[in-house]
Amino acid sequence: MKCGLVAADGAVLHRETRTTPRDAGARAVLDALLETVVELSQKAAADGHHVRAVGVVVPGIIDAGHGTVSAENLLWVNTPVRAEIQAALGPDHQVHLAHDVRAGGYAELRQGALRGTTNSLFLPLGTGIAAAMVVDGSLVSGDGYAGELGHTRFVHGEAAELCACGQYGCLETVASAAALARRYGARTGRVVDGAREVLELLADGDADAAIVWAEAQAALIDALVLYTTLVAPTRIAIGGGLVGAGETLLAPLRAGVHERLTFQREPEIVAAELGEEAGCLGAALLAWDRVTVDESGEPTE
Ligand SMILES: [Zn+2]
Repeated sequence: MKCGLVAADGAVLHRETRTTPRDAGARAVLDALLETVVELSQKAAADGHHVRAVGVVVPGIIDAGHGTVSAENLLWVNTPVRAEIQAALGPDHQVHLAHDVRAGGYAELRQGALRGTTNSLFLPLGTGIAAAMVVDGSLVSGDGYAGELGHTRFVHGEAAELCACGQYGCLETVASAAALARRYGARTGRVVDGAREVLELLADGDADAAIVWAEAQAALIDALVLYTTLVAPTRIAIGGGLVGAGETLLAPLRAGVHERLTFQREPEIVAAELGEEAGCLGAALLAWDRVTVDESGEPTE
């Protein structure tokens, strides 16, 4: 888990990464989160800072009203994350809970690749795929359910694989970083060290890597065309570790989307700028927004 201390102007004063004890179960993950939040608050105080608010972002479905989270990969089911953090920190700290990808999208909107847009999309290709949607200037949360483009079906017939969500042929099963590595392994019987190695093999002219990548690309182009047709973004920022591949990733997506659009407004397709820090920075920016709202009585967005 990534964490940091962030000033009101978005400057990162301190950053660190800690291990998430996923294999130790749901409670252990929550305890690690609580320990991190408490120790960081203590560090801030020791460094002479006044912590105004705490932003925590997690994957899954976030019920902002109740402060609960259901996240399959953390084994959380309606887990009262906000109340636990509040209890650990005491009543003097405001706690703001949000979705990791939406927070990352918010950071890209404020300080990164989506700056200056009012209709845009942040799509990180990670272990899974979720989207942060900026529509008419607002980040869309849909009561915690919005942005699950990764669980829309773009692969049909026999090629459709079962997804963690229970459907077949989801974008995530073919185009996430995890899927690229898994599918390359399944085709060749070789174990690769993540999607990065598949992209290296692709650059070296490996035919199986080219097929796996072409299938991912076809599904991604379908997804981007669908999103463009529905919501008309002016800019799409692709994030996650795969964007390290740069134009190898982006140029074919851009060309594929261009070819498919007829009447739609064509979005710019760019690499996200904030990398792995986006979610952490977004958590802080969202928490600072709450402080501003509470002090002025006016929303800042
Ligand atoms: Zn799915």
